[in-house]
Amino acid sequence: MKPFTYLIPKTLDEAISLFESHEGRSAYIAGGTDVLIKIKERKLLPDYLISLKHILGPDRPLLNADTKELYISAFITHRTLERSTLIQRTYPILHDAVKNIGSVQIRNTATIGGNLVNAVPSADGAIPLIALDASVNIYGTKGMRSIDLIHFFLGPGQSVLEKGEILTEIVVPPLLPRTGGAYIKFGRRKAMELPLLGVGMLLSLDEDLATCVKARIGLGVAAPTPIRAFSAERFLKGREVNEQTLTEAGQIAADEARVRDSIRGVAWYRRELVGVLVKRMGFTCLQRAGLKHGDSEDV
Ligand SMILES: Cc1cc2nc3c(=O)[nH]c(=O)nc-3n(C[C@H](O)[C@H](O)[C@H](O)COP(=O)(O)OP(=O)(O)OC[C@H]3O[C@@H](n4cnc5c(N)ncnc54)[C@H](O)[C@@H]3O)c2cc1C
Repeated sequence: MKPFTYLIPKTLDEAISLFESHEGRSAYIAGGTDVLIKIKERKLLPDYLISLKHILGPDRPLLNADTKELYISAFITHRTLERSTLIQRTYPILHDAVKNIGSVQIRNTATIGGNLVNAVPSADGAIPLIALDASVNIYGTKGMRSIDLIHFFLGPGQSVLEKGEILTEIVVPPLLPRTGGAYIKFGRRKAMELPLLGVGMLLSLDEDLATCVKARIGLGVAAPTPIRAFSAERFLKGREVNEQTLTEAGQIAADEARVRDSIRGVAWYRRELVGVLVKRMGFTCLQRAGLKHGDSEDV
C-alpha cells in the first residue's frame, strides 16, 4: 500500500483548507472502509488523507422538538444509528438498513456520510433516506448548500459534490401521522454481502389506517443510482392499501426499475424481486403504521 500522511483537522474550514493546500494529492477519509480499499487496489493514490472523524459535531441523531426534523451528522457511524432508540422506534426503515450493513466491526467505523458519498447503487444507507425525503447539507469554500438526496447521485461512484466539498449533515423532514416504513436488503445469503436488491418503502395512512395518503418507494441496485419508483408511489396515493393494490404497485415499480445483469443476479430476476419485495414491504409498512411508537411488533 502506498504510504500517505494522515491529517486530523478539528473543523470543517481546517479540513477544506488542508484539501486545497494539497489539491490533487489529497482525499477525505471518514471510517475508511471504502477509501482504504480503493487505496489498496491503487484506484486512488493520495499523498494526504484528511480525516473527517475528528470534526466536532453531534455524536448521535437528534430530533428537533419544534420542527420534528431529524438531523444526522454525516460523520456518525452506522452502529450509532443502529443503537439509537430514536432510530429504532421512529425510523425503523433506517434501522432495518443500518443494522445489516457489513459486520459489527464495519458498522463501528463506517459512517453514514461515507456511505452516501461513495454513491454506489447498492448503498444500504441511501435507499431508506431517499424514501424519507431526506436532504443533505454540503459545506465548501462557497459556504453551505442543501440538496435533496434524490438529486445527490449522478451515477455509479458519482455525486454532485464538487472538489473539496464535505457532506456534513442529513436532514429528514417530519413524518406524517400513521406512517410505517420498512427496508429489506435482499441477498443470496445471510452473511456479509452487498444486496442483490434493496427496497425501502414508506406509507402514510389516512385515519382509517387503510387509505394511502403518501407513498415513497426507494430502490437500490435497480438502476445506476439509488432511485425512487415515482409511478408506483403515485398509483398508491389515495388508494386502499391491500393485497391487490400492493401487487399492482409492485408491478409498476418493477416496470420502472432499470435493472441489469450483474455477477450477483440477472436482470429478469431482479425485476421479479422488485414486485415481490415492494408488496412485502408494503404489508410491513401497513402493520408498522398502525403501531404507536414503542409498541412491540412481530415482523
Ligand atoms: C467488508 C465490507 C462490508 C460492507 N458492507 C456494506 C453493506 O452491507 N452495505 C453498504 O451499503 N456498504 C457496505 N460496505 C461499504 C462501506 O462500509 C460503506 O459504504 C460505508 O458507509 C462507507 O463509510 P466510510 O465512513 O467508511 O467511508 P470512507 O471509506 O471513509 O469514505 C468513502 C468515500 O467518501 C468520501 N467521504 C467520506 N465521508 C465524506 C464526507 N462526509 N464528505 C465528503 N466526502 C466524504 C471519502 O473521501 C471516500 O471517497 C462494506 C464495506 C466493507 C469493507
